[in-house]
Amino acid sequence: MSRPGIHHPGASAVAAKGWVQANKWLLARRLSQALVVAVFLTGPLWGVWIAKGTLASSLTLGILPLTDPLMVLQGLLAGHLMTATALLGAAIVLGFYVLVGGRVYCSWVCPVNAVTDLAHWLRLRLGIEKGLNLNRDTRFWLLGGVLVAAAATGTIAWEAINPVTVLHRGLVTGSILGLGSAALVTAAVFLFDLGVAARGWCTHLCPVGAFYGLIGRAAVLRVTAVDRAACDDCMDCFSVCPERHVIAPALRGAAKGVGPVILSADCTNCGRCIDVCSKTVFRFGTRFRNAPTDAPTGSAEADAAAPPAKVA
Ligand code: SF4
Ligand code: SF4
Repeated sequence: MSRPGIHHPGASAVAAKGWVQANKWLLARRLSQALVVAVFLTGPLWGVWIAKGTLASSLTLGILPLTDPLMVLQGLLAGHLMTATALLGAAIVLGFYVLVGGRVYCSWVCPVNAVTDLAHWLRLRLGIEKGLNLNRDTRFWLLGGVLVAAAATGTIAWEAINPVTVLHRGLVTGSILGLGSAALVTAAVFLFDLGVAARGWCTHLCPVGAFYGLIGRAAVLRVTAVDRAACDDCMDCFSVCPERHVIAPALRGAAKGVGPVILSADCTNCGRCIDVCSKTVFRFGTRFRNAPTDAPTGSAEADAAAPPAKVA
C-alpha cells in the first residue's frame, strides 16, 4: 500500500504494463547475479564443476578462462608475473565489456549491486533525504589510489578489502571466516548507502565500478530514450537510476539537437528506466541509432537488444 507523501517510482508503470513488464529487467538482473554465484557453487556442493575460482579469476567448463582485468592490472603494477591464461582471460573479459558496456559488470554481475539497490529502495520507502554530498569523481581518485598502492606495496592490497571480492569469495567458499567477512562488508555498504549518502558506494566511491566504466566508454549496447516525445515528466526514471545524471541529455536534449541514446559510460545498462517508464520511452538499442529526432521510431524495434547474454 502506498504511503502518502512517499514517492513510489514504477507504480504508474505497473498500472500501465502489469507487474512483470514493469520489473522484467530487474528480475533478469537478479537472476543473472544469482547465476553468477550459482555456477561457482555447483562444484563444491554437488561435484558438478561449471566455474572454478572466483570473480577475480576463473575457469568455466574447463576451457574458458575469465580474469578480472583490474586484478591483472594491479598484479602487473605490483611486479607479479601473469600467466598466459590469466592474460587471455582478461582479454576475453575486456572484449565483452567493451561491447556491452563496462558497467554491465555492476548491474548484471556484481553481488554488491543487490545490496546497494536494496538500500536505495528502502531510502525511497522511508523518505530519507539525500545525506552526505559526495563527488562522483571520488571513485576515479580511489581507483588511482588502488593502482598506486599495488605499485608501491608490490601486492594486490585492494583485493583484501574490495567489497566485491570479499562478498563473492564469502558466498562461494562458504567458510565461517569468508561468510563473516562478507556479512561485515555487506552491512557496512548497506548502512553507508542507507544512512550516510544516497547511492554512496557504487555511484561515488567504488573503484571497481570506475574502472569498468572507463573500459565501456565506446560500448555498442546502449539504452535509448527513443520515444522521448512521450515523456510526461513523472521523474520515475530519475528516481530509480543509479547514475541519474546520464538521463537528462538523452531525454531532454531534443531542443539542443542531442540524440536520444544514453551515451555516458556511467550508465550501467541496468534497464530499470525501461521498467519503470509507463510511457515506454526507453529501450535497449545501439549507440549508432542516435539521430536527434523526436518522432517515435517503430524501426527501433529492430534495434532493441537482448540483455547481455553471457556474463563473466
Ligand atoms: S560500483 Fe562497485 S560495488 Fe557497485 S556494482 Fe559496480 S563493481 Fe559492484
Ligand atoms: S539510464 Fe537507465 S539503464 Fe542507465 S543506469 Fe540509469 S536506469 Fe540504468
